[in-house]
Amino acid sequence: MIVEIVTTGTELLLGQIVDTNTSFLSQKLNQLGFDVLYHSTVGDNKIRMTQVFSNALHRSDIIITSGGLGPTQGDITKEVTAQLLNRPLFLDEDSVKNIKSFFVKRQVVMSENNLRQGMIPEGAIIMKNECGTAPGVILEHDNKTIIHLPGPPHELKWMFEHAVVPYLKKRFNLQGVIVSKILHTYGIGESSLEEKIKDFIISQSNPTIALLARQGEVIIRLTAKGNTVVEAKDLIAGLEKQLRQQIADYIWGLDNDTLEANIGKILTQKQLTIALAESCTGGLITSRITDISGSSDYLVGSIVCYTNKIKTDFIGIPPQIIIDHGAVSHQTASLLATNIRQKFTANIGMGITGIAGPNGATPTKPVGTVFIAVDGPLGIQCKKYTFNGQRTDIKYRISQAALHMLRQYTLSL
Ligand code: ATP
Repeated sequence: MIVEIVTTGTELLLGQIVDTNTSFLSQKLNQLGFDVLYHSTVGDNKIRMTQVFSNALHRSDIIITSGGLGPTQGDITKEVTAQLLNRPLFLDEDSVKNIKSFFVKRQVVMSENNLRQGMIPEGAIIMKNECGTAPGVILEHDNKTIIHLPGPPHELKWMFEHAVVPYLKKRFNLQGVIVSKILHTYGIGESSLEEKIKDFIISQSNPTIALLARQGEVIIRLTAKGNTVVEAKDLIAGLEKQLRQQIADYIWGLDNDTLEANIGKILTQKQLTIALAESCTGGLITSRITDISGSSDYLVGSIVCYTNKIKTDFIGIPPQIIIDHGAVSHQTASLLATNIRQKFTANIGMGITGIAGPNGATPTKPVGTVFIAVDGPLGIQCKKYTFNGQRTDIKYRISQAALHMLRQYTLSL
């Protein structure tokens, strides 16, 4: 079954709103096993919308639209379909009742144009809108199906889950379930990862494997179809086991795991405390650690030591170290880790110093150069990294690298 998603609204073409409806619908439809092969966007213009719907009807079996069901003159989606399929619009009494009671419940006076939303193409299946006023409609026409959903994302999501999914399951006799699992990796790029597991990628069928680059990591999504959840999960487990034989060292988490939560668990379990001296990251790593509730059990505190003066006066880095080696150096990062650990009497200290850019680079230390040090019961570990990107990207990547170093270090304790 080929599915096309058509989002409508001039605001989308002007870039005034981001099209989140397409991504929501695509994900859900793929999970149901449909082939979403086309995404289209068209403004609130009758001629162009007719063209887009007509193209979609030609090449796809199911067309799902979002937007243009509202009360204003610019809301023309149903009108366009009605004309295209030669299905006159009529005022649906039930829909009118629902629209009126929506306003009564909210104690708002309804303007007459709201009744336009009750105009329905002949022969349509009507989907009640529990979150708003505009009903959705489903039209079956010559083996094609057109589904019109409202634009506001919360209305669209509700209607999709409560009306469209049951309709699609029944109409297309969708059997079985689709289950996905995410493997989070770190320390390997997308292409190298693909190379390592290419035999599995080439021979994939059920489960399927998708590699997706995210900010500061690559994730592997395994998706299986089965008659039951247990069957689909078993298929995924089999493939995951095989993949782990190739890439176990790079996998650090599953599904909705976050690094900061993962580290929190390790520190709590091992009863370890941590303190940080952050320079170029400006407190970002500490902020991520404190995103986890209960982090006061293991985070003692941190200092954002942005200037050299703070590094020397508050963290005790000898000025000569900075003169001899620079603020961005192996020596400075290591001393930041050691001194903050001692000052805050923590089990583990971390020091982070680097050049987030765009200024501050030297011939030997380009933008993105960073030194991250961890000091603790295993002694000092310090690593140099070079990251690319804009300032905020670099800062985030540094925080990823630092959290991974911390994870590795604490796992070895
Ligand atoms: P309304 O009754 O609110 O007019 P509608 O069905 O006519 O609903 P639109 O007028 O096209 O829908 O869009 C209403 C609002 O929904 C937009 O202003 C925007 O905030 C949001 N919206 C519309 N389309 C999308 C989309 N594709 N992705 C995310 N948000 C959207």
